[in-house]
Amino acid sequence: ADGDATPDVLVVGGGIGGLSAAYALAREGLRVRVLEQAPEFGEVGAGLQVAPNCTRILHEYGLLEEVKSLGVLPSAMLMRDAVDGSELTRLDLRDLEERYGFPYLVIHRSDLHAVLLRACRELGVDLRTHQRVTGYDTADDRASVTLADGRVEDAELVIAADGLHSVARQWMAGDDLVNSAYVAYRGAIPLADVTREVNLDEVSVHVGPRCHFVQYGLRGGEMLNQVAVFESPKALAGEEDWGTPDELDQAFDDTCEDVRAGIPLMWRDRSWRMFDRDPIDRWVRGRVVLLGDAAHPPLQYLAQGAVMAIEDGWVLARHVTRQRRSTTDTVDWDAAVRAFEAVRTQHCRRVVLTARSWGELWHLDGTARLRRNVVLRDRAIDDYSFVDWLYGPTALVPEELPPMFQPIPLDAVEAERDQPTLTD
Ligand code: FAD
Repeated sequence: ADGDATPDVLVVGGGIGGLSAAYALAREGLRVRVLEQAPEFGEVGAGLQVAPNCTRILHEYGLLEEVKSLGVLPSAMLMRDAVDGSELTRLDLRDLEERYGFPYLVIHRSDLHAVLLRACRELGVDLRTHQRVTGYDTADDRASVTLADGRVEDAELVIAADGLHSVARQWMAGDDLVNSAYVAYRGAIPLADVTREVNLDEVSVHVGPRCHFVQYGLRGGEMLNQVAVFESPKALAGEEDWGTPDELDQAFDDTCEDVRAGIPLMWRDRSWRMFDRDPIDRWVRGRVVLLGDAAHPPLQYLAQGAVMAIEDGWVLARHVTRQRRSTTDTVDWDAAVRAFEAVRTQHCRRVVLTARSWGELWHLDGTARLRRNVVLRDRAIDDYSFVDWLYGPTALVPEELPPMFQPIPLDAVEAERDQPTLTD
């Protein structure tokens, strides 16, 4: 990389979102610098599901074959009831690949991160660690960041990919995180340590009252990835110390044998409290633009957080290219980020809100759970109407977004509220 030359673009945050955006822009010939606060680039070692709307982009980047070789391509995704263990519905992932043209795969996060890091290096992205950004400013067609050591760096565009607790989001919107009172435990372990029977040809989720359990294989089937998620009674009671391992054990007490057998294998020294944010319409302030979790952190029930972040970088790079004047080799950055914002705020709003309601459906109890099970068992296996909007090609302009989730008129909501409800 051409070391100290001023970059065209500064990317704050070297997670999957920041690196993939840096790569997308470097592919367009732009000079990109990534500022990461950590002493090293990396990701925590657990699994990630990567849907066709993202493998399509990885293919375009020329990275899909490598990602496939490092991951696992399961042949089915199964949803089961966590209490009685019965199958509720499934997706045939071979058929799904045929429908969308690209595979559904699962991969170790650190493997995907490493692929993106190496790809950035090869294109000469200037990758810097130990760079904690504490402030943002924007004026006169440029944006700048202040670092913890007081230095200031600037560029024509600053992309803030600084994650859930984004400093840029605070500066831009000042909104709060939304606490779901749910917490996730993870455990990616060698298959040799697993004594029960597991089918690594499937991505499996058991959905239960206030809890769920996900498992799938990693690294060509050498490892098992498990995620156990539950609602914390201590969080609901307003206690500070919530989501503790004793709560983990209790939360899964009433689940089937298959699920209970997985709980002792979870990592107990780390957990992830689950927050999201209410969607906002503005991700751009002057020449600073939010991307990835900084812009739209979801609850992970649709497994689209990292996928959306990778889509963001691809969409942004496409608009930057469209707004490039070949005669002067300058970019109309304002037009590019406006176009990015116009389409991505709408798509990601749908994902964030749908993930919330999908989670509610998973976690039902009592007769509501039984009714859900009837509906899910009734679903035709080849009915893709509920995932087409997610797994189909990524929209570049709002007009390409699939026409679903039209806003429900308020009077319809109110009419429903006045209906007598069935109680359990
Ligand atoms: P992050 O990964 O948070 O990266 C932010 C980076 O910015 C970090 O490297 C951080 O150190 C750096 N940074 C932060 N602040 C600063 C600063 N001030 N200065 C400099 N650097 C800074 N998504 C999927 O697509 N599929 C899944 O299957 C899936 N499963 C999930 C399961 C769980 C349990 C959870 C919790 C999430 C899951 N997600 C999944 C979501 C996904 O992990 C995130 O959406 C994604 O990693 C966000 O990437 P990001 O780069 O935007 O943010």
